[in-house]
Amino acid sequence: MAVRYCAALLLVLSCLFSVSYASLGDADPTYRTCVAECERNGCIGQVCFPQCNSSSSSGGPWYTQEPLYLQWQKLGCQGDCRYHCMVNREKERESLGHVPVKYHGKWPFKRVLGIQEPASVAFSVLNLAMHFHGWLSFFITLYYKLPLKQDKTAYYEYVGLWHMYGLLSMNSWFWSAVFHSRDVDITERLDYSSAIAVLGFSLILAILRTFDVRVEAARVMVSAPILAFVTTHILYINFYKLDYGWNMIVCVTMGVAQLLLWARWAAVSRHPSSWKLWVVVVAGGLAMLLEIYDFPPYEGYFDAHSIWHAITIPLTVLWWSFIRDDAEFRTSSLLKKSKTKAK
Ligand SMILES: [Zn+2]
Repeated sequence: MAVRYCAALLLVLSCLFSVSYASLGDADPTYRTCVAECERNGCIGQVCFPQCNSSSSSGGPWYTQEPLYLQWQKLGCQGDCRYHCMVNREKERESLGHVPVKYHGKWPFKRVLGIQEPASVAFSVLNLAMHFHGWLSFFITLYYKLPLKQDKTAYYEYVGLWHMYGLLSMNSWFWSAVFHSRDVDITERLDYSSAIAVLGFSLILAILRTFDVRVEAARVMVSAPILAFVTTHILYINFYKLDYGWNMIVCVTMGVAQLLLWARWAAVSRHPSSWKLWVVVVAGGLAMLLEIYDFPPYEGYFDAHSIWHAITIPLTVLWWSFIRDDAEFRTSSLLKKSKTKAK
């Protein structure tokens, strides 16, 4: 439950993350003038940016358009100008006693080695590492610690689903790290799409596990509509319209639904490790408040979103530990049943 909860929260958060694009910071005339001049001259005061030196032509058929590397250079120039104008403007504002404001939907982060949000990237990588560790130890528990059937397969009926869940989670944290390193159209889409994928899959998993759906046909009946919906939604935001509001509704609904499923199960199932479920649900729910408060980055690094990514690291560890417990619990009760049958 915790894992799904984490995934749900992640998705909800990442959905909430880039909702607004016009912000106070980039509406500021001083900032706007700075960016416009920088893009024209390639310099802010004495500091000049090599990427801003390209001559540009736009419009016309594809063969008269500038080559791809020049377009990249232009993007790089825009990024450099925006970043340095923002840093300068924020310094001025700070000396006047003003609090930080957002620029283009984002807080003024300090870059490290060209990485836009170093704290979020570091925490995303750690989340990925914890998922990898959890996924690996789940595999070891199943195949080296627990008894296997005669055909060398595990007794636990949710093996394939959890493996898939592990892979999708690692994929989504990978793209989260990429997106927080550099926020461009393609990295944003990949981050959103992989978050939706893991959120949708963990909803399926939540239904199948909490209702003990073990018959193949029933599993297909439950999964098919959700898979169809999630696929359509991913195609929609990628190829039709990246509608942040709608995407948020989808993510929140899928996230809250699986939270409720796990919470109900924790309450009724008498699972020996249900406390782990509760910790993840409650802590995950509280962590969500961070996204709502959305405070500016402390020292230019740790904003609410990055702290949220930090909190999911221990929750991920606990969640995989719950999954291992669940495998042990199911295996031992299955073995008990088969022994009583044999008697
Ligand atoms: Zn994020």
